Amino acid sequence: MTHRLTIELRRKQRDCHELCCSCARFFKVGETAHSGYAEDGTPLHVGDCCSSKLAETAVRTYWQTRAYEIPDEDASLWRYMDFSKFLLLIKERAIYFARADHVGDKFEGAKGASTNRTVWDDYYLRFFRESILNPPDGKRPNISPENLQSEAERLLKEMEASGIRQLKTTYLSCWHESETESEALWRLYCPPPSVGLAVHASYGSLNTSLGDNPDIAIGRVRYIDFRKEFAGPSDAIFRKRHSLSHEREVRAVISQPDGNDSFGIHRPVDLNLLIHQVVISPFASSWFEALLRGTMAKFEVDIDIIASELMLEPFY
Ligand SMILES: [Zn+2]
Repeated sequence: MTHRLTIELRRKQRDCHELCCSCARFFKVGETAHSGYAEDGTPLHVGDCCSSKLAETAVRTYWQTRAYEIPDEDASLWRYMDFSKFLLLIKERAIYFARADHVGDKFEGAKGASTNRTVWDDYYLRFFRESILNPPDGKRPNISPENLQSEAERLLKEMEASGIRQLKTTYLSCWHESETESEALWRLYCPPPSVGLAVHASYGSLNTSLGDNPDIAIGRVRYIDFRKEFAGPSDAIFRKRHSLSHEREVRAVISQPDGNDSFGIHRPVDLNLLIHQVVISPFASSWFEALLRGTMAKFEVDIDIIASELMLEPFY
């Protein structure tokens, strides 16, 4: 294995995650996935079925289901914000990604609820004991039951510490997926009499505007009942409590294991590719539209500005 991972190969791994890109057979959990290049340099992500097509193997992995679901290209995404956040977006021409431990949800990155902790701990202690006794080389170690238990407990502690560390090296940009505007979110993010707006984008526009970067994972959050379910070690950043399911969140996630410990990072973005429309808050004062148009012109951002659909008048 060469470990040579070009961006094209990383995109292939992302886009063909579910199936062998050569014969379109779906992967099964635990089988080997081979990533590499054909003789002519074409990136390939294949199963054992088609591994003979690889002239160079970059990496092999045990296939696992993806931690998140990727929306359709045209899935409609919204980001409600006050004017100052929008000003920052167009001035910097960059999306702000907040550090995961600073987004204000104590269950961010959680594996479960504390009431279920013993079930989780017992499962992983058993898993670690079995892994120690059955190493990949098949040589069963000579270890006392006491030492086996204390080593399993050390690994469990290390796993939790690693989960906590991960929150400090993971950065999020959170979006709301919906075909239409949400009055509830207008009230939450732009409550009267504040001035605010919503940026209307799509999964495809968000991904493209960030450079179609396979190292930025963009996917749907899954809402779970932490009283009954757990989030896996590699899934947790895409799991939230059921009580937040109205958010219908799609998040873009950046992992920076060697991060600089800042509370947030900016990622350059092509605003014209990202934003379909800017929608003015139904609660904004009448002078806001002129201010918004003037500001966007000053920063040379030429994007449609429209009124909120909540401004429609009924007839009876
Ligand atoms: Zn195949």
